Amino acid sequence: MAQISNHMATAELQALDADHHMHPFSTQAGFKTKGARVITRASGTRLWDSEGNEILDAMAGLWCVNIGYGRDELAEVAYRQMKELPYYNTFFQTTHVPVIALSARLAELAPGDLNHVFYAGSGSEANDTNIRMVRFYWAQKGKPDKNIIISRKNGYHGSTLGAMSLGGMSGMHAQGGVVQNVHHIDQPNWWAEGGDMTPEEFGLERAQQLEKAILELGEDRVAAFIAEPIQGAGGVIVPPETYWPEIKRICDKYEILLIADEVICGFGRTGQWFGSQTVGIQPHIMTIAKGLSSGYAPIGGSIVCDEVAEVVGSGEFNHGYTYAGHPVSAAVALENLRILDEEKIIETAREQIAPYLKQQFEALVDHPMVGEAKIVGHMGSIALTPNKETRAKFAAEAGTVGYICRERCFANNLIMRHVGDRMIISPPLVFTRDDVDLLISRARKSLDEAYAKVK
Ligand code: PLP
Repeated sequence: MAQISNHMATAELQALDADHHMHPFSTQAGFKTKGARVITRASGTRLWDSEGNEILDAMAGLWCVNIGYGRDELAEVAYRQMKELPYYNTFFQTTHVPVIALSARLAELAPGDLNHVFYAGSGSEANDTNIRMVRFYWAQKGKPDKNIIISRKNGYHGSTLGAMSLGGMSGMHAQGGVVQNVHHIDQPNWWAEGGDMTPEEFGLERAQQLEKAILELGEDRVAAFIAEPIQGAGGVIVPPETYWPEIKRICDKYEILLIADEVICGFGRTGQWFGSQTVGIQPHIMTIAKGLSSGYAPIGGSIVCDEVAEVVGSGEFNHGYTYAGHPVSAAVALENLRILDEEKIIETAREQIAPYLKQQFEALVDHPMVGEAKIVGHMGSIALTPNKETRAKFAAEAGTVGYICRERCFANNLIMRHVGDRMIISPPLVFTRDDVDLLISRARKSLDEAYAKVK
């Protein structure tokens, strides 16, 4: 077989891809008629494809490339670590310097007494750890029946069987079943589900569903509540301001653990190091991944508070992954945290770019097809609607208009994603004002083109 490289013709690469590579969250057969876009390189906030197009990445890959593409420091750290100690595990009373250094740094950064890290290779694996860890925690405390985890419809916690069961994506549940003892309450999505209530009333009502669920299931059965501070993959749903304070009240009142899934919100995306700080909560466990290494190396984990770590640590927790705390990923993550911190990337993003991004992005609401535009820090969404007053959905099958809009963005060299009829962004934190201007002009053009097709 000829050497496969960036220099091959796009059609040839696409044909091989369609024949041999099974894509996540895709209809595989479709690649036979329309080949996948082949991304060949990236720098800063831009990607290039095999046709030479320069593309603005307003999704930071999959919400993860927080420091932007092409940072040599991370490549150099990975190279050095691979030469020195490419792999060793932390099972059986062993450890290594990269994992020690990263854990100590995460303990410094994480709020309150979140001082202990259990590693995984991804966010999904970390959430699987969380399911097992909170159940083990309660079993250690003599309450093995306190094993139900409450989560939310349209939340996303990953794709492994456990993480997918925590998530509330019905299309995923329908394929292959779910694990037991996970209970879903409704999401705080005022635009889609708020009816006649004000956002404030609705936020309270949705939070109080947690209390109702705890009372119905029994406080002695509920182990934990898990949620993303701001739902990401569900469509960047910014909850009404009343939501999190009420959830906090309920969590404080009942003896259940609070798990904040920070896989997207963590490491600066919402303007603080962690989304929990932005929404004002202090969880017992935080799930981390993505921005931890800015996506340069696969790594995830659970940051655990003192009390939970002590209880879990008092017995043998029979759980662990071969690549947990992988030395190369840990070294890359540590270097990424150094750059985020020393270059003040989070502060700069929050103070110098986010206000401008918010002003420009939320102004998209003047487009005839945009009903709601919301952004917190560097994650935002717009809701597409045929009627802003009634917040109606398009008559076409759910997501059709969003899909058309995403295709137009793609054609206009802008990566935005759609979730149903919401269009979402999650740009690298190194987005400049010029990037914002380009994003908005390409988004407006794409919206106009999509509108011309559907109106
Ligand atoms: N949790 C949240 C909030 C996510 O958004 C994701 C991925 O998008 C995950 C967990 C799963 O992470 P991974 O894809 O690294 O397994």
